[in-house]
Amino acid sequence: MAFTAFHCALVWPLFILKPKRFDFIGLSVGAVIPDLFIPFFYVLPVYEEPARIITHSLIGAFTFDFVLALIAALYVVPKVIRYFKRTSPDPRGYKFAGIDVLEQRGSLLVIACSILIGTTSHVLLDILYHGGSPVFYPLPSVMFPLDEVLPWEIFVHGTILLAFVHLAYVYWWKMGS
Ligand SMILES: [Zn+2]
Repeated sequence: MAFTAFHCALVWPLFILKPKRFDFIGLSVGAVIPDLFIPFFYVLPVYEEPARIITHSLIGAFTFDFVLALIAALYVVPKVIRYFKRTSPDPRGYKFAGIDVLEQRGSLLVIACSILIGTTSHVLLDILYHGGSPVFYPLPSVMFPLDEVLPWEIFVHGTILLAFVHLAYVYWWKMGS
């Protein structure tokens, strides 16, 4: 997998370009949620394979990942951001691209679409990072031939890392200071 948070680099440009058309929290939560639940599957009495299918397939992106992301984007993450906003004067606790992400929330439809863009982008991007991705389950796993070719690994990990660092630095860290 690409490091979980780096998946945001794929969806943040949408919010940067059209902040009224997308929901920042929905995009971000959707982009990271497929990975966030994998650790739980290791401690719960389920096998890894069904866990990867349910979190890393398009079917999962529209069902399991979507429902959990919707709950998180509506009820959990806003509470956390609101806490930062209340307790610290630093706008980096609640602003991205100079926009207050609590004030600039989309309608329920915009939030739902933003989440689906996030979850779908995650499972599609992960094709590049896994030897076998269950993205089109129940069709056979997609085997990406370049996986495990070192220059390719460095290229894909480096690209997403640089994109994430650039966006986070310019639109979150610097704009909020
Ligand atoms: Zn993943």
